[in-house]
Amino acid sequence: MSNKKSIAILGSTGSIGTQALEVIKSHPDNFQVEVLTAQSNVDLLIQQSIEFRPNAVVIGNEVLYDKAFNVLDPLGIKVYSGEKSLASVVQMDTIDVVLTALVGYAGLVPTIKAIEAGKHIALANKETLVVAGELVTSLAQEKGVNIYPVDSEHSAIFQCLVGEFHNPIEKIILTASGGPFRGRNRKFLESVKKEQALKHPNWDMGAKITIDSASLMNKGLEVIEAKWLFNLREDQVDVVVHPQSIIHSMVQFEDSSIKAQMGLPDMRVPIMYALSYPDRLKADFPRFNFMDYPQLTFEQPDSDTFRNLALAFHALGRAGNAACILNAANEVVVSAFLEDKISFLGMSEVIGNCLDKVHFIKTPSLEDYISTDKETRIKALELIN
Ligand code: NAD
Ligand code: MG
Repeated sequence: MSNKKSIAILGSTGSIGTQALEVIKSHPDNFQVEVLTAQSNVDLLIQQSIEFRPNAVVIGNEVLYDKAFNVLDPLGIKVYSGEKSLASVVQMDTIDVVLTALVGYAGLVPTIKAIEAGKHIALANKETLVVAGELVTSLAQEKGVNIYPVDSEHSAIFQCLVGEFHNPIEKIILTASGGPFRGRNRKFLESVKKEQALKHPNWDMGAKITIDSASLMNKGLEVIEAKWLFNLREDQVDVVVHPQSIIHSMVQFEDSSIKAQMGLPDMRVPIMYALSYPDRLKADFPRFNFMDYPQLTFEQPDSDTFRNLALAFHALGRAGNAACILNAANEVVVSAFLEDKISFLGMSEVIGNCLDKVHFIKTPSLEDYISTDKETRIKALELIN
């Protein structure tokens, strides 16, 4: 028996996935790769598999199956394809931790399947908790499964809570960079294009989350993610804009004390902590120097200009399937924005309309979430066209 943790990475070819492999590569005594999956970047998936020798891979797009099979089968690597395989591969006996580094609603079912099989989750895929936070967290509790946050803000909160689990949280303070359009007004935002929105000042991430950061929807999704991860009420979550992204988030306790977790913006840190908790591993990542940042600044988020943050708080307050509606509408408008089919401000309008118009369900089942997602996507596309 080895002491290495066996990791399945869902979405290994993305921004989080590739950084996770960097972390694993530099700690071969701690981790081994059991499963890799990707949607369509088959060349990178093959290259990663040759290097890390997983037991199995899944290529989402079935058209690419043969290409992966022809190279990997002779190496003794099992190759599967399609959505259903993703949901079954996470249940393999040999997996200890599933890192959900895939983007969007597609993470929901595989995450549930992994929890049902008792796998711990390193959660990057925040959309899963936005869509069905109540269902996912209660299932994890029932199965004795831990959900370790990878999102930098939530990792920061988790790190502040270590040693404090018996102390009630008064509130959390989520920091937001403000994105590339911080300080801009609606007049300016009317005409911004994807090329401008895709330039994030502090983080290099996948396209969807980069647009979400520009529109503040990312912070909205993170508010909901925090609610479920840390079992908070809506009024216990504050958002503060902190353009330097050095303080990754904070926890305020009942004695007024605030703990913050800091460092340079580098996703490898929270990825590694989620995989190595409760240990901290040695790493040669660049160190933060206070003299390089003589001023750390803070400001109020502008949720009149960036309506998505207000919409997310609204969805959280409404509960039921409202956040599932918010998420599905957002996925549709972000894809449309990336194809120049909707304006930047038009995105919030469609999301707001979907929240008003899609059938509200107070206590949704998994089937209800699936049908809400479908219904919302149809409605959002209708509103865009
Ligand atoms: P990305 O677009 O760079 O990568 C997404 C990965 O998911 C790819 O490997 C892709 O093949 C796979 N994928 C895409 N669609 C899929 C589908 N329908 N089914 C299965 N697999 C699919 O995205 P990313 O920036 O790495 O983000 C991944 C997740 O992590 C998102 O939920 C994001 O919100 C979250 N996150 C990312 C960062 C970051 O720095 N990139 C930070 C915090 C949280
Ligand atoms: Mg984040």
